[in-house]
Amino acid sequence: MAVEDPTETPRVRIDGVGKQYDSAQGPVQALDDVTFDVEAGEFVCIVGPSGCGKTTLFRIIAGLEAPTNGTVSLDGDPVDGPGPDLGLVFQEYHLFPWRTVAGNVGFGLEKTDTVDSGERRRRVQELVDLVGLDGFEDSYPRDLSGGMKQRVALARALAVDPGLLLMDEPFGAVDAQTKKMLQDELLDIWTETGKTILFVTHDVEEAVKLADRVVVMAKEPGRVREVVDVDIERPRNRSDDAFGTHYQRLLDLIQE
Ligand code: ADP
Ligand code: MG
Repeated sequence: MAVEDPTETPRVRIDGVGKQYDSAQGPVQALDDVTFDVEAGEFVCIVGPSGCGKTTLFRIIAGLEAPTNGTVSLDGDPVDGPGPDLGLVFQEYHLFPWRTVAGNVGFGLEKTDTVDSGERRRRVQELVDLVGLDGFEDSYPRDLSGGMKQRVALARALAVDPGLLLMDEPFGAVDAQTKKMLQDELLDIWTETGKTILFVTHDVEEAVKLADRVVVMAKEPGRVREVVDVDIERPRNRSDDAFGTHYQRLLDLIQE
């Protein structure tokens, strides 16, 4: 086996991860021997049918759930509980309804005593601008569209400047037009910040548009079917041949 270059430690290493749940109907093998790496700064999408263990895998990476087998490490350190270097974004926005946009975005910063209130306000404004919500600082979630709420959730996840973003079907609940805008904005933010992104989606077109690599999962038990490189220059256009080829290949793998 090749000796690893320590400067090339993957940001995320998922190594032989298995997860068994005990349910009333008996044991459920949610994940079986899942192994793949995500390099620092890489954008990796995960696609697969409902129930193939995508959310379970995220909960394990985030340290919210312990695997039954295997390990996950972040920059070489095994995950054994929730850590700070991680931002989470879900399909359901999980915003605090009683907090304003600025209050939601600044939430994570309030818990860190290294940031004083002036610095916090500055950072919050920067993030609000970054996600295109300038002018909505004092609005409440109930007054925002789905797309805007998802922008708030993204800004909140970015606030503590995590090295890794885990996004679980973040654009699954917004309309097609808004989704396209959010995808472009996310790609801009990714390019600007150099974050590592692990992104679950149902939408194969979304995966081809966003990812450096796509992990295709299968279910019962949840496992990796194949990892597909998406070596298409950005910005990507769905009408390009290469886009169509990758799209079809992924669709075939999922339907296999
Ligand atoms: P996905 O996000 O890909 O839809 P999940 O990770 O939510 O998949 O679920 C994977 C499998 O594990 C499913 O069969 C689901 O029913 C089961 N599962 C998930 N969470 C639990 C739990 N807390 N207890 C029992 N079974 C669970
Ligand atoms: Mg899920």
